[in-house]
Amino acid sequence: MNLRTNIETLAKVVNGRVLKGSLGAAFNSFETDTRKLKGGEFFFALKGEEHDAHVFLEETLAKGVKGWLVEDNKIGRFKNFPEFVIGVWDTLKALHRLAAWHRGRFKIPITAITGSNGKSTTKEMLRSIFEKAGPTCSNAGNLNNHFGLPLSLLELREEHKFGVFELGASKKGDIFEIGALARPSIAVITNIGPSHLEYFGDLETVFRTKSEIVDCLEPGGTLIYNADDKYLAPLKDRKVNKLSFGYYGADIGISEVGGALKLSYKNEVAEIRLPSSVRHNYRNAAAAAGAAIASGLSLTAVKDGLESFTPPPMRMQILNINGSTVILDAYNANPASMRAALETAFSSSFPKPFYLALGDMKELGRHSMRYHTELGEYLATLDADTVFLAGPEMKAAAEEMDKKGKSAKVVYAESCEAWAEDLRAAIRTGKGTFLLKASRAMKFEKLIEGL
Ligand code: ADP
Repeated sequence: MNLRTNIETLAKVVNGRVLKGSLGAAFNSFETDTRKLKGGEFFFALKGEEHDAHVFLEETLAKGVKGWLVEDNKIGRFKNFPEFVIGVWDTLKALHRLAAWHRGRFKIPITAITGSNGKSTTKEMLRSIFEKAGPTCSNAGNLNNHFGLPLSLLELREEHKFGVFELGASKKGDIFEIGALARPSIAVITNIGPSHLEYFGDLETVFRTKSEIVDCLEPGGTLIYNADDKYLAPLKDRKVNKLSFGYYGADIGISEVGGALKLSYKNEVAEIRLPSSVRHNYRNAAAAAGAAIASGLSLTAVKDGLESFTPPPMRMQILNINGSTVILDAYNANPASMRAALETAFSSSFPKPFYLALGDMKELGRHSMRYHTELGEYLATLDADTVFLAGPEMKAAAEEMDKKGKSAKVVYAESCEAWAEDLRAAIRTGKGTFLLKASRAMKFEKLIEGL
């Protein structure tokens, strides 16, 4: 972080009061995590759902903090203060104001990506494309919420030529709130699917939430969207510049030739060998291509960037363990990504027999049972050797498989510990393909630890 400003400007931007310290002093960066303080830094006291960093202020003094950005009603009890104290009403709002102001200093293409699935992958793809054309700022990992996104924007530095940020949402209004900080010149919506339904209620609300990004576009900005997604169909009537991607009659056309991805735009065509050839990544690649083209890059530049991108970990990561093919997709799971992962695994030429180790798809609220039952119904049609299922929600899938009279052996348990050793023994034989997928909370990556 290098904000290149001073205390007076900072206070003005965040609508705060300088309670202590000289106005002309430099302000370049801050920390929000007390564990990262070494001495001499500013500390921005944010309050999350579980912790309010104001309780650690005492500790920051012991660590030699230089200044505080704090809520002024929370420091009355203090006798000692650091060299600088900037008081605000609400530190999260202050962080947002600072991020929006800082973003406004940059006249570079800024892409914001949202959607139910594929945000991180599309962001990494686009970052790889942009990096070849110039320094690119993007969120670290998936810091994509109302804390992570502003903190990511504050990492923009003078040398950056591009910005690409993913925006996450768990309720209506979330995308508008953080999209307004990013003010993208390019907005990407990857798809609409049942994720976080517990909070959203229904898919129509998911659509309306994700499309809030369109209202955050800079004047003259471009919307990139998935034309094959029926929920996104209303976007074609939006009065903004648009580029669609998809298999059927979209601006960025997707097709497949001999195991490679073919993207077309106007009369240009590029054949691309992705480092991760899983099928749903074709759509993510096309989404990234759309954003790159809207930023003025060519399809050749797109190809170069996509062929050298590094897939983020635990997303359809293909590992060879003792000769067995293990597809680790333990990063997260919801009905759309579960289906995509299964379709990819079974339609690619992975060696048989197939073993599936699947865990709960969380946060589906009152729809959970239905989606898990539907999954069981689909699993019963697949040609798998053994299906290991774990988690309270997965019980519905196991029961449905039993009802449907599947050919695969089904092993269900409340916790994956119950069958982990059997799965590991099967992996050790060095034969076949193993797909491991569950919601983040299930931590399925531990199934292969030490193998
Ligand atoms: P997000 O950032 O939106 O959570 P990621 O890019 O991290 O998405 O991918 C998470 C998982 O979602 C992947 O491992 C894969 O199983 C699935 N996925 C990725 N892209 C898509 C897509 N376009 N459609 C459906 N599922 C996808």
